[in-house]
Amino acid sequence: SAMRDEKIKKTKTVCTYCGVGCSFDIWTKDRKILKVEPHPDAPANGISTCIKGKFGWDFVNSEERLTKPLIREGNHFREAEWEEALTLIAQKFTQIKNEHGPDALSFISSSKCTNEESYLMQKLARAVIGTNNIDNCSRYCQTPATMGLFRTVGYGGDSGTIKDIEAAELVLIIGSNTSESHPVLSTRVKRANKLNSQKLIVADLRKNEMAERSDLFIQPASGTDLVWLSAVTNYIIEQGWEDHQFLSNRVNGFENYLSSIKKFTLDEAEKLSGIPKEQMIQIAKMIYEAESTVVLWAMGVTQHSGGSDTSTAISNLLLVTGNYGRPHTGAYPLRGHNNVQGASDFGSMPDRLPSYEKITDGSVREKYERAWGVKLPAEPGLNNHEMVAGIHDGSVKAMYLKGEEMGIVDSNMNYVHAAYEKLDFFVVQDLFLSKTAEYADVVLPASPSLEKEGTFTNTERRVQRLYEVLEPLGDSKPDWKIIMDVANQLGAGWTYDHPSDIMAEAAQLAPLFAGVTYERLEGYSSLVWPVKPDGTDTPVLFLDEFPFPDGKARLHPVEWTRPVEFDDEYDIHVNNGRLLEHFHEGNMTYKSKGITSKTPRTFLEVSPELASERGIKDGSLVRLISPYGKVKVQCVVTDRVKGKEVYLPMNDSGESAINLITSSYADKDTDTPAYKEVKAKLEVLETE
Ligand code: SF4
Repeated sequence: SAMRDEKIKKTKTVCTYCGVGCSFDIWTKDRKILKVEPHPDAPANGISTCIKGKFGWDFVNSEERLTKPLIREGNHFREAEWEEALTLIAQKFTQIKNEHGPDALSFISSSKCTNEESYLMQKLARAVIGTNNIDNCSRYCQTPATMGLFRTVGYGGDSGTIKDIEAAELVLIIGSNTSESHPVLSTRVKRANKLNSQKLIVADLRKNEMAERSDLFIQPASGTDLVWLSAVTNYIIEQGWEDHQFLSNRVNGFENYLSSIKKFTLDEAEKLSGIPKEQMIQIAKMIYEAESTVVLWAMGVTQHSGGSDTSTAISNLLLVTGNYGRPHTGAYPLRGHNNVQGASDFGSMPDRLPSYEKITDGSVREKYERAWGVKLPAEPGLNNHEMVAGIHDGSVKAMYLKGEEMGIVDSNMNYVHAAYEKLDFFVVQDLFLSKTAEYADVVLPASPSLEKEGTFTNTERRVQRLYEVLEPLGDSKPDWKIIMDVANQLGAGWTYDHPSDIMAEAAQLAPLFAGVTYERLEGYSSLVWPVKPDGTDTPVLFLDEFPFPDGKARLHPVEWTRPVEFDDEYDIHVNNGRLLEHFHEGNMTYKSKGITSKTPRTFLEVSPELASERGIKDGSLVRLISPYGKVKVQCVVTDRVKGKEVYLPMNDSGESAINLITSSYADKDTDTPAYKEVKAKLEVLETE
């Protein structure tokens, strides 16, 4: 009836889970979510969504939501009013800054939060406190990809859009569990594979769903992607299959690169990676014969001690074969969280301001100093890996962390927890009393995406608006308001009324977003950066030039870094990644009934060979022990994995949490943890 309909509200939002950036309408009545309705105008997904976007919203009304600030008193927390919490934070921050200098404070932004919130967090750190100690959790995933792209093509983002991936003749997926991590994007590839006779090559340790559907599946030894990629590139050049015209017109450094890559012979690569020569030749041929090739990659590439170099090798291969600067070509590092791209784009990085302008560049700093009316620190700050080390060595005394379960997500979590215990003052801002928040001195109740306005940027570099579906629960507030309250308590005098005011300021300062306005993002409209002042956006990058002074891309020679290896005692390689149904440590999805009824807990995938060697059956309980800690988990025997390779989904925060056994080893160029280089020994605890 009309009366009933009056209370029903339909609001456009953008999914809070993965980097595909699906948008849809949410129907609500009061706080009840009635349904998620896809919309044909949604630029990334049209009428598709996955289980998380469709059913993953119960957490918003969870009884466990924080609705009041919490202040530590001895071993427990007590509820407090905002004023008391903010006063305490300002007092402590000021005191620590006065006693130890601004670099004794550290800030961690969130890739679940909006662009506007990432902008404000770095502004708080830089302009109000005076430190560049600001980072975000893309340090745990895709910073190495960004590095590889910065070195070679100049922009750290996907070269084109999901439509370009769909229309490419050849798709190469490396180290990405695409169908579970980026479900809607993977259905595009599956469809193109079927309908447009698109070819698909998958390289992975584990026979995931995309591997099963591929035209060619290779299983390289862990950490050897750079080797086989370079051998394929070398072979292409030896055959004279490189794109001569593209290389001479648009790329620098070919001669130097050529001499660096000669050592990557097929023989050598076969020995190190275990990939038969014939398969590498087949890959080279397929790339040569395809009119357009795209490469998709994720954590299987980046979370290694040579993650940046492997990402660079991917980009080199694309340059050599002329697969940049045209539609349906290019590099696609798949972003994990909904706003991994945006968190870095808007300056939550220790060495870059919004738009990736360098903090060390005096003219850039001057621009911000004029706009913000302060003097800015010129030296790059600490990344989150260095912050943890800084707490251990006593130089970092305080941390303000928003929207991130760092205590479970960072590698070597026992070491991270020991750091938290050393902090003089720790502020955590979240929806829930997370494991990380248990170490906090003050916990601030934030609002999820459905309770705020703002913008997210998906893996395609597409900026999209989200609208307020529900009012903030209890006394919780959108993160941008909380950051502003903290800044103002410290005397900043910020006066943003709405996230659009924040975007207007950022657009003035950050060239990539010059033409971004909320009007241009109305409803299902979106903009793909860079956006010119007149609002023209750039779905395909590098059509005319690469963003370097001479407009040319750069081939960047790289060397292989041997993955971290332990002695024979630790004979099991523990791979890890996602499950379709859950998201990361499961903070949100485990609180959504539609999801937990299907997949209530995590499990370890064990190969049939290892199972028969150790007497493991489905349901067997085992313990994995690394030099850093141990996990206990139930097994599933499956031929998705082979030999002494096991797979542990990362979606657990209890005794099966992967980071109980990961190390502090990291990518040598970006400090991204080498999560994928985990060795352990395995003990069978009981067999049913
Ligand atoms: Fe959300 Fe990603 Fe699923 Fe789309 S594919 S609905 S963005 S989790």
